[in-house]
Amino acid sequence: MQDTPRHKGLRVKLIESLRNKGINNENVIQAILNLPRHYFIAKEFEHFAYQDTPFAIDAGQTISQPFTVAFQTQLINPQNNDKILEIGTGSGYQAAILSICGASVFSIERIDVLHHKSNKLFKHLALNIKTKLGDGTLGWKEEAPFDKILVTAGAPKVPPALFNQLSIGGILVIPVGKTSESQKMVRITKKSNKNYITEIFDNFSFVPLIGEQGW
Ligand code: SAM
Repeated sequence: MQDTPRHKGLRVKLIESLRNKGINNENVIQAILNLPRHYFIAKEFEHFAYQDTPFAIDAGQTISQPFTVAFQTQLINPQNNDKILEIGTGSGYQAAILSICGASVFSIERIDVLHHKSNKLFKHLALNIKTKLGDGTLGWKEEAPFDKILVTAGAPKVPPALFNQLSIGGILVIPVGKTSESQKMVRITKKSNKNYITEIFDNFSFVPLIGEQGW
């Protein structure tokens, strides 16, 4: 794996385009600038890594578009030592961005090959990310509560297990939609075990969140 000056130059260009689309959280921008996205994509397709598009990874899944990663990370606003649960490890890129932002990251993936591949990469990059193979719609009970939860697959509704595993004052960012093709980005701030604030943002298109409390 090599991160050349050319790759770094392409990341600078990518950042310019993300800033033009409204990304302004410097912590997020520095993480995207410092993390080689081409490590998370098959070598033969690495020239696509710095285009602002999603890209196919194994098992019919995708690495999210850089703008989507930046937007979700900005909404969750990771702080040093925040305990964050990510649902949908996929390539591992989003989890790595959260980790570089200073968070303590836990990530769940339901597909074996993606779980193993991302784990290997985290080790190689010396990123301390705890991972689990399983149904993320049920959360990670043994590690709860979490300060923040970030879902990177499209859900039909907010999984109750994820709301329950959020600390009071915690934030959940999740794409929610009635069809598996289009979702609105939703941010929920938990005020008490029964009360929460909901904010709704733009449309996105994620692969479906499949599981007991998903599709
Ligand atoms: N965060 C990923 C990245 O940075 O590459 C994006 C991955 S992709 C858009 C969504 C991922 O969610 C897929 O890898 C899919 O297998 C996974 N997924 C879907 N339903 C899931 C579930 N119930 N639990 C865990 N992972 C799930």
